[in-house]
Amino acid sequence: MKMPMTIYLDNNSTTAMAPQVLDSMMPFLKMEQHFANPSSSSMLGRQVRNALEKARISVSGFLGARPAEVVFTSGATESNHTAILAALSLSRGKRHIVTSAVEHPSVLLLCQHLERLGVEVTYLPVDTEGRLDLDTLRQALREDTALVSLMWANNETGVIFPVREAAEIARGAGVYFHCDATQAVGRTHVSFAAADVDFLSCTGHKLHGPKGVGALCVRKGIELPPLFHGHQERGRRGGTENVAAIVGFGTAVEQFSDLPGELRHLAQLRDHFERGLQAIMPCARVHGQGAERLPNTSNIGFLALDGEELLFRLEQEGIVAALGAACAAGSNQPSHVLTAMGFSRTAVLSSLRFSFSRLNQLPDVDYLLPILGGVLLDMMHLPQPSMATANPSVSCLS
Ligand code: PMP
Repeated sequence: MKMPMTIYLDNNSTTAMAPQVLDSMMPFLKMEQHFANPSSSSMLGRQVRNALEKARISVSGFLGARPAEVVFTSGATESNHTAILAALSLSRGKRHIVTSAVEHPSVLLLCQHLERLGVEVTYLPVDTEGRLDLDTLRQALREDTALVSLMWANNETGVIFPVREAAEIARGAGVYFHCDATQAVGRTHVSFAAADVDFLSCTGHKLHGPKGVGALCVRKGIELPPLFHGHQERGRRGGTENVAAIVGFGTAVEQFSDLPGELRHLAQLRDHFERGLQAIMPCARVHGQGAERLPNTSNIGFLALDGEELLFRLEQEGIVAALGAACAAGSNQPSHVLTAMGFSRTAVLSSLRFSFSRLNQLPDVDYLLPILGGVLLDMMHLPQPSMATANPSVSCLS
């Protein structure tokens, strides 16, 4: 049986590793090559350390940070944990955190855990477009606030928060500011220095790098209390470095030779998709359309249709998207992001996320649109168009 081609549109979940990344990692995995411990003072160890420091220069350059401000971690979850716990520990006596209701679970679940330990957390609301009102941030700050933690861009909707302005407000109040920039890096212009934040998290696998490696940028002058104690990473993150992955991370950021061009490409794909969808189903809702958004993310509400069935039907046609309701496997929990934006459970469960990468091209969208239209008609029990009709169209009145 011939399998349909696979069009991968779930790049906010993870991206495929660039071939150059794998090639650069291989010498650090092979038995006869650079397997030494980078902390070893032998010549073999020094060679490996040099590669690690070269990757640090690449990653810090891409993030607009100084090399010494970059701490390599196992990914954004660890970076988020390190930053949040560090800010609490550095702000002795202060036991209040401000974050938003739409953060990634690696922030929200940690905050819930901290609440059980007596920390108070304020979860800032968002509006129906997923936007944050900076006045609510100003009002939430208290004498005992240790940290403001806000994401740069939302993983489900792509909606961008005003990070620089929020960081300025926190700084004015003498409060640490952490930004989870995991989805933003490589998908918009991110600069640690220009954003003027204290901590910034990101991960390799959202930008065609390997999984299990990330970075935490820590503002110069902050003595980072480590999550893992040990001498590596200048005492800021113990544990023998995942050298191959760090080298791969460095190579991944080096592939962004033309970020503005890449962002234009992503926006072209997304706009082509959203315009095509508009022609097929004018009443489909693009979540966050009224907000500033990442150029690669379309989160679509399909009236009251069953998102899980739609996802499954698309997958059978070789199209991989994601439930907007990033359900934990089997739990059928509606997305906390779309729920916080004010949508009903039915609306949330009818939403799918399509997220593009540089590996997608316009023909992918042209392949997707008529299939999506056909599946939508079928799910709404409407007749399929004749062969002469280029694209099926779903009436919103039905
Ligand atoms: N924050 C955000 C916004 C994310 O999208 C993700 C990954 N889905 C993470 C944190 C966690 O990243 P990692 O998988 O590297 O731990």
